[in-house]
Amino acid sequence: MKVVIVGGVAGGASAATRLRRLNEKAQILLFERGQDLSFANCGMPYYIGGEIAERQKLLVVTPERLQQRYRIHTRLHTSVESIDPESRTVMARELRTGRVYLESYDKLILATGAAPVRPQLPGIDLPGILTLRNLEDMDRVHALVTGHARHVVIVGAGFIGLELAENVVHRGLKATVVELADQVLPPLDHEMTLPVRKELASRGVDLRLNESVTAFQQSSTGSQSLSIELKSGARLEADLVILGIGVKPENQLAVAAGLATGPRGGIRVTSSMQTSDPHIYAVGDVIETFDAVSNTPAQVPLAGPANRQGRLAADHICGRQVAYRGTQGTAIVRVFNLTAACTGLSEKRLRQLQRPWRKVYIHPAQHAGYFPGAQGMTLKLLFEPEQGRILGAQAVGGNGVDKRIDVLAMAIQGGLTVHDLEQAELAYAPQYGSAKDPVNMLGFVAAGILKDEHRQISVEEYLANPAARRLIDVRTATEFASGHIPGAINLPVDELRERLREIPQDQPVLTYCQVGQRGYLAQRILQQRGYDVVNLGGGYKTYTLYDAPVNSTRH
Ligand code: FAD
Repeated sequence: MKVVIVGGVAGGASAATRLRRLNEKAQILLFERGQDLSFANCGMPYYIGGEIAERQKLLVVTPERLQQRYRIHTRLHTSVESIDPESRTVMARELRTGRVYLESYDKLILATGAAPVRPQLPGIDLPGILTLRNLEDMDRVHALVTGHARHVVIVGAGFIGLELAENVVHRGLKATVVELADQVLPPLDHEMTLPVRKELASRGVDLRLNESVTAFQQSSTGSQSLSIELKSGARLEADLVILGIGVKPENQLAVAAGLATGPRGGIRVTSSMQTSDPHIYAVGDVIETFDAVSNTPAQVPLAGPANRQGRLAADHICGRQVAYRGTQGTAIVRVFNLTAACTGLSEKRLRQLQRPWRKVYIHPAQHAGYFPGAQGMTLKLLFEPEQGRILGAQAVGGNGVDKRIDVLAMAIQGGLTVHDLEQAELAYAPQYGSAKDPVNMLGFVAAGILKDEHRQISVEEYLANPAARRLIDVRTATEFASGHIPGAINLPVDELRERLREIPQDQPVLTYCQVGQRGYLAQRILQQRGYDVVNLGGGYKTYTLYDAPVNSTRH
């Protein structure tokens, strides 16, 4: 059997090595038009910032290693230009010599990835407007940030854009991030990104939301080389622009060969990674797959799915039964001292899909509060209103965000419910977690809602009609003084039972505290005394994520 693979990074290299492990006799030929194979794209921002000091470390596997250990033949600097599905051949071109030749295959794997989007704006081809996909791109950016650049404009506040902003600042340069949307990190919900915005601001990153670039010009002033015109009419001067506004599948080979693609250009594949031609497989950023939770088509450019899909394609070629489970979009990013992460569906995606959901927020510490050094985080859980099946989760905060998102990602993959989170047995010692881990806490709060033990409303519901309920802040007087929701009266939970006469029963009541827990207790106290009462989900801390007005009596 002869397997030809086009593209030698995450998906292609994974498929190649797996094929060899399963089949010693197969002839495996890997084409890569670039100069490097299987490099760590995800590490590139950190080489640019200097945290990864040695470029060499990004070269995960060399062609020599693939040849020696796996007997995989690699053809670098060779672009596959076309596929003839009838004769099962590809036409390849050696980019250095121009030599063109045909290569036959029994099975073909397309792992051509996705190219950064370069919008057709005036001046887009000026020098100093770069994208970041491979090590050659990285070297160009590296040369500028370690050379004459002082101000870098990053277009796009997605994962890569923010990683670049962090690393540019690490180099001591000024970073401006221009983003079309009204938030950073589009896969997360708006309110969960507020701490990230604050973190960026505290590090001096100039973030321009609801803004876009309309044109680039050569700068006429001083050392700055580029002048960037923005939609608002504002202008930025910079030495380097990096575009991080998304990627589009490199599907040209597939389209020309007549393979089916989706509306956004991803190659359509079956759950065994076969395209519309069963002899041709496709994996990684170039494919359209399906969302694991909603079962709708999805194009998610992430390294984990690309690697797993490569492995599955190899398995299937070697006669194994496989079924890709879909992509959940589990992703994580460090932004200076914060980590933001998500998995499954967001609230905005649920809205688009018109699916019903409920949500809870908690603001736990990473580990037992009595053990020194615990960092805080905000966790958001989305779940089905009836059975409580988990639909999505997001987290932002300090250490420990990664572990909670990963546990929740597995819970989603396992089809678990909030009741399962209540029962989850997770590793605990005071340095690592709590006897009631944040994941259990999410389960307790969410299950309490489903069992109608805990009546709560969301901040949006409150803001839609703030006058509907008498608002009671059950925190201490000191907490109240340092900031509270306008119109609230302060009745600390410990005094509530004695001061009930201050809460007439003629109007429904809304309790709230800092994170939701004392407000819940207050809600239980009042409910059992006949009040029509709900608690504000996630408390004042969640309220502040919405940038809503606050009153403060402390000066
Ligand atoms: P690619 O890695 O893009 O590889 C495709 C290869 O195919 C390319 O090298 C290309 O030269 C080659 N090729 C294309 N067409 C041809 C042709 N006709 N002939 C020969 N060769 C061809 N994902 C995460 O999950 N976490 C992260 O932290 C993360 N960080 C990232 C940071 C950066 C800066 C970038 C750029 C990406 C990051 N990603 C991250 C995304 C991740 O790297 C991709 O999802 C993953 O590399 C996709 O793998 P792939 O094999 O599908 O495509």
